Amino acid sequence: MAIAARAERKPGAAPKRVSILGSTGSIGVATVELIERGDFEVVAMTANTNVALLAAQARRLRPQMVVVGDESRFGALKALLSDTGIELAAGPEALVEAGARRADWVMAAIVGAAGLPATLAAVTQGAVVALANKEVLVCAGDLVLAAVANSGATLLPVDSEHNAIFQVFDFDNREAIERIVLTASGGPFRELPLDEMSTVTPAQAIAHPIWNMGPKISVDSATMMNKGLELIEAHYLFGLGEERIEVLVHPESVIHSMVGYADGSMLAQLASPDMRTPIAHTLAWPRRMKAPVPRLDLGAVGRLTFEAPDDARFPALSLARQALRSSGAAPTILNAANEVAVDAFLAGRIGFMDISRTVAGVLAEASFPRPATLDDVLGLDSLARRTARDLLRRG
Ligand code: NAD
Ligand code: MG
Repeated sequence: MAIAARAERKPGAAPKRVSILGSTGSIGVATVELIERGDFEVVAMTANTNVALLAAQARRLRPQMVVVGDESRFGALKALLSDTGIELAAGPEALVEAGARRADWVMAAIVGAAGLPATLAAVTQGAVVALANKEVLVCAGDLVLAAVANSGATLLPVDSEHNAIFQVFDFDNREAIERIVLTASGGPFRELPLDEMSTVTPAQAIAHPIWNMGPKISVDSATMMNKGLELIEAHYLFGLGEERIEVLVHPESVIHSMVGYADGSMLAQLASPDMRTPIAHTLAWPRRMKAPVPRLDLGAVGRLTFEAPDDARFPALSLARQALRSSGAAPTILNAANEVAVDAFLAGRIGFMDISRTVAGVLAEASFPRPATLDDVLGLDSLARRTARDLLRRG
């Protein structure tokens, strides 16, 4: 197993030239806010369709290059920014160019496997890559780690759990690490009667009790597929087998994850649930910066609670565990099928419990070798998407 690359500490100066892939999303907007507070030179910024927000951000941050993924929005982007002298481009190849543009630090915050080519380009140029886009590691973990090893890039996890682990993971004493514990909020349906789960609406699923996130990850949190994806993400980042990665429901989301050591110690990172903390950690790393987040007041929180995840309620978690165990192509297939099923749920075409059912169905239909190249991953990803759509059509 290729585990040589993961998040490793390297000394170095704080970054100066930065890019933001997915600047208009929940993570992108928080990143822009932090970058505006510091002394950075912005290289590239990208979005998929929201040219109004992208242009407003670009007027403030003055990047070299601005890219919109959806080519049909290029005219609108040009109308908004042509007087600025900023280089403007559109389409999937331009997204890759944005990732490849020389920068010290790149925020990878596009959602889904759609972000893979641009994120891989950022890794290949050897940047410090702040990785929010977990789907990239799930669908192409081996490929990304190989690219990290080749280019000397540094992957810094932005996902709050992995960022927490990174902060307390003793990379110099890895043999003393027995396990990691990923905490999970449990999402909005942790206490909903099981027989009501099939009738929940997209609006209910998106209303997360703790975090305010993009629609896809919000639905993933409600099904707990998010924790499943994070299990696979943790495997690639920290080089631990599935049996050494535990999941613990912790509704207050104050402990962001923990590392268990051979002497019985558990080290945890705590913070108010606010993504600006992990983003700031990666932006200033290996130093620290001031972040405009609410300070944790444990006296006000009062009580921290924990419970084991409920497998019957959240089948997605065991599907992801099985996919990681069987390895091969399963994580790529799981991710693609989940993206299709979440889209269908958000569009009102399928019920909430159909999401995991679809993922399980696609995994059962397909058995393929582990993808080795970007083309292998993209081919497998489209095949799994087609299979998922067929399955949904058949009902
Ligand atoms: P979001 O939906 O709010 O934003 C997604 C961004 O990606 C937008 O800028 C959008 O324009 C861009 N995008 C979407 N589809 C694209 C495509 N096909 N091509 C190019 N660009 C595209 O999502 P988010 O909540 O900011 O999450 C981004 C990533 O970070 C996800 O992978 C998510 O799992 C991860 N993450 C998010 C949070 C959070 O709190 N929001 C926490 C941990 C991890
Ligand atoms: Mg997370």
